[in-house]
Amino acid sequence: MTEWADAGSGLRRVLLASPRSFCAGVERAIAVVEQALRHHGPPVYVRKQIVHNARVVADLRARGAVFVDDLDEVPDGALTVFSAHGVAPAVRRQAADRGLPVIDATCPLVTKVHAEARRFAGRGDTVLLIGHPGHEETDGTLGEAPGRIRLVSDPAAAETVRVDDPARVSYLVQTTLATDEAAGVVEALRRRFPGLAGPGSDDICYATTNRQRAVTEVAGRSDVVLVLGSDNSSNSRRLVEVAERAGARAYLVDDVSRVDLRWLAGAATVGVSAGASAPPALVDEVVAALTALGAREVSEHTTTVEDVSFTLPKEVRQP
Ligand code: SF4
Repeated sequence: MTEWADAGSGLRRVLLASPRSFCAGVERAIAVVEQALRHHGPPVYVRKQIVHNARVVADLRARGAVFVDDLDEVPDGALTVFSAHGVAPAVRRQAADRGLPVIDATCPLVTKVHAEARRFAGRGDTVLLIGHPGHEETDGTLGEAPGRIRLVSDPAAAETVRVDDPARVSYLVQTTLATDEAAGVVEALRRRFPGLAGPGSDDICYATTNRQRAVTEVAGRSDVVLVLGSDNSSNSRRLVEVAERAGARAYLVDDVSRVDLRWLAGAATVGVSAGASAPPALVDEVVAALTALGAREVSEHTTTVEDVSFTLPKEVRQP
């Protein structure tokens, strides 16, 4: 009770960053699994988490989706969905060798980065992929040209990465990085390789860019920022870092139950955002709790209006 009283004592405002929550790639990937379940019935096997969000995965699991880490866990002949983060060609080959029926839910913007990787590597470049090690998206992109693509995770790595020919170097960027962080790495690479070639348009996707811009605006006016998203969601974690760099204390929470009331003590204004894989309902639940704690004013701060949508793969398009 004391914690509740302390948390709510000064709370006045909630600022909602907009855009936030689902992007077009995530909506498409979830729709792929939903439609696959509707058309084919359960079980539908999904390689890796369809998107990095605990609530989304739990909902789909309850409806008959089976999430596996490896194709070896998929029974022969079972319908299999590749997640929004994309897969390496070796995984596609493995599925084809086993004759598995596959529906590919890779976000078209990740597919675009894979195409750039093939193009750059194909013309003889060493390709430097700016991204985080161990993330499914970087694993998939690295797999497009093993041996020709190297991962560069930070400016320090940019200073030491070895290339075959310094005159033939290009870079790519994981779609969900922090824009300022990636710019620092590109700058370091360009100092070492003045002829560095890059993607035609930025690889960091529109959804990542827009959510980071929106949370920056809100963080500048907030005492605390709550970002809804799961721990393994790259773009959600970046929103926390970006909000901190904008001057607010920021926390990543999977849902309202994870909010520690001590974070809110003394805060008059709380900013709220959500990663591209986090359902809008999670935000609604947090806003309801903040209102119950005493926030009287809830306002939306819109920096961009998004109107992006992607068509579904042909296997699950409505007839
Ligand atoms: S965050 Fe960007 S790349 Fe990832 S699914 Fe969404 S739109 Fe696609």
